Amino acid sequence: MEMWYTEKHSENVGITMKVTETLFSGKSEFQQLDIVQTLEYGKMMLLDGLVMVTERDEFVYHDMIAHPALFTHPAPKNVLVIGGGDGGSIREIMKHPGVEQATLCEIDGLVIEKSIELLPSMACEIDGSNSRVKLHVDDGLAYIRDHQNEFDVILVDSTDPIGPAVGLFEEDFYRLVHGALKEDGIMVAQSESPFYHADIQKAMYGNLRNVFPIVEMYQAFIPTYPSGLWSFAFASKKYHPVNDFDQQRAANRGFHTRYYNEQLHLGAFMLPTFARENIA
Ligand code: SAM
Repeated sequence: MEMWYTEKHSENVGITMKVTETLFSGKSEFQQLDIVQTLEYGKMMLLDGLVMVTERDEFVYHDMIAHPALFTHPAPKNVLVIGGGDGGSIREIMKHPGVEQATLCEIDGLVIEKSIELLPSMACEIDGSNSRVKLHVDDGLAYIRDHQNEFDVILVDSTDPIGPAVGLFEEDFYRLVHGALKEDGIMVAQSESPFYHADIQKAMYGNLRNVFPIVEMYQAFIPTYPSGLWSFAFASKKYHPVNDFDQQRAANRGFHTRYYNEQLHLGAFMLPTFARENIA
């Protein structure tokens, strides 16, 4: 019998793909976690039935959540990821030799455990083998409250604003992030689909602008996310992602990135009009 997985993106639209096997299915204290084998996209992780990552297109998301901030900040040394229990963001951060420490603060230990076991291409740097990586199983909100003025870059690699991630889209959280960053720090957060989530974006970018002097949106193409057009919020105390970007440093990065490059960095911040209007 053929098995198909469908994620509804609205009442009338969704994405569907053929699945050959369920590799894990279980419930944590926070959410339902499923990892399935698909035919086209490799292994796929779902939380509460929503696609988090697939092996085939995760490189886009993880390149784009990590490298724009890490190549805008001139010398990031201490980096925090909130969420991101699959390990993909930490893997990209570890490609930067100047980063001395990366901390992962993921609320759900089961996501980390099952990613190490079943998604090693993403979790390769969170399996205990890298002394530059520290893991905390904790609520990101609680964690940064106790870690003020510490980080050069904070990446909010969260689920959608439902369940445990609701607070990660609110102004109080951004104030804590602002305080947890050093005086020239940068935050990047996944900021949903400009095509489907205009209301979330309007509220989120409004909250960010109440806290940070520099707030910009940038985009990436992610086939398995709603509409395929995804976005990230870049919020910064000092450095502008286009005006202060050193294209030469990114061009000479010395490691391979399948999506990010020094030209795309600039292009990603050029938005279609409807996306600009979401956050005007
Ligand atoms: N790439 C994904 C996307 O955009 O769909 C997100 C990656 S997923 C692994 C995000 C993670 O954020 C989940 O594992 C979830 O448990 C975690 N998370 C949600 N709320 C959190 C919170 N308050 N503190 C820390 N982690 C949280």
